[in-house]
Amino acid sequence: MSLIPEWLERYSRQIVLPEMGSEGQKKLSESSVFIIGCGALGSAAAQLLTRAGIGKIRVVDRDFVELSNLQRQIIYDEGDVKSGYPKAIVCAEKLRKINSSIEVEAIVDDVNPQNIEKLIEGFDLIIDGLDNFETRFLINDAALKQEIPWIYAAAISTHGMTMNIIPGETACLRDLIDTPPPPGSLPTCETAGILNSVPTAIASIEVTEAIKILLGKDFKKNEALFWDLWNGDILKIRVSRREDCPACVRGEYEFLAGKGSKTVTLCGANAVQVRPDKRANLNLKSLGERLQRIGRVRLTPYVLYFDIDSYEISIFPDGRAIIKGTTDENIARSLYSKYIGI
Ligand SMILES: [Zn+2]
Repeated sequence: MSLIPEWLERYSRQIVLPEMGSEGQKKLSESSVFIIGCGALGSAAAQLLTRAGIGKIRVVDRDFVELSNLQRQIIYDEGDVKSGYPKAIVCAEKLRKINSSIEVEAIVDDVNPQNIEKLIEGFDLIIDGLDNFETRFLINDAALKQEIPWIYAAAISTHGMTMNIIPGETACLRDLIDTPPPPGSLPTCETAGILNSVPTAIASIEVTEAIKILLGKDFKKNEALFWDLWNGDILKIRVSRREDCPACVRGEYEFLAGKGSKTVTLCGANAVQVRPDKRANLNLKSLGERLQRIGRVRLTPYVLYFDIDSYEISIFPDGRAIIKGTTDENIARSLYSKYIGI
């Protein structure tokens, strides 16, 4: 029988690193990380943090595992698609199998202004594994308010981006991007595609920065990193705190106060309406061209109809959409962010 304690053996390859040591390992075991989104970014980051021995991990996601996820979301397999289980549940179950000595919690929910503060309360750090900007602006507000460091990350096509946001110390998301881009103005992974190495690479950077922040080591400040894996370009973008930043300077948490899209279930219609906060000026023709690669599209001068799986989505030029085939507002918001983009 080995005389080496289990934890020493498990973490031996990182304890031996001068950057970590057994003191560092102990710190990680006393740390907690909240991971928002269990897609490609979130599930890759969750795996690495679990293997690194973070003491407590909470994952939250509103979606279910789908066949089209398997190309890049490295924690899932075909059995998970068949099971029809929510991503957060499946992800947490796999994390527990990887490391039973840490605490893993799963929450199946849409993160919104009503629940975010309770969800992140008491955590040492937040990892962004999201697929939409609206929720990122909400995290920015909530993290600043509760003074929790968070790491912004995004991945699409052949490139990705990440930035550390430390309340009171660095620039925040609104110093990089003032407000969420109008709905339908940005490509999504569903319409533009994504190279499967991109989210894994970006998640690796997120996790490295997370470990440095948790250990109290030097980490990247006021700098966003953009990496195009296809052409090999890495850009470091200087981000300064704006003197009048509404969030990190003035402390006005507009997104936490409810700024953002609204959903409402249309009674008796088996449909949900999603109305963006800002009136958009959508080019239905070009959106239709993007969507026709993945579903059936019908365009009239006033509305774009898009059929995907068992849903019919009617999209109006002002960004409003009616999603038929569900009365679940979480599913409707998820479909909106996947196919129209918010
Ligand atoms: Zn700011």
